[in-house]
Amino acid sequence: MSGRTHARACPERTCVGCRERAAKSDLLRIVVAGDACVPDRRGTLPGRGAYVHPAVVCLDQAVRRRAFPRALRSPGVLDTAELRRAVEAVAGAAEATP
Ligand SMILES: [Zn+2]
Repeated sequence: MSGRTHARACPERTCVGCRERAAKSDLLRIVVAGDACVPDRRGTLPGRGAYVHPAVVCLDQAVRRRAFPRALRSPGVLDTAELRRAVEAVAGAAEATP
């Protein structure tokens, strides 16, 4: 009736790095804490969230095009050091898994 055929069980979000759509569960949620972007691994932190693949390439693209301040409606520079560490940890863990 509404014309929507996608199941609601698998919500999609757009990665702010590569701009590709992916299942929400495959992306890392990012929120603003003070003047920094922090990973929200459990998806429970309040506030506006942005989504990015847990991959360094996507994080780099997002940082280069200043996608986080735009997506998170936070003017100014956001520190992504902690976020980078988290992404590198996830990426490293994925590579180590056979
Ligand atoms: Zn991506």
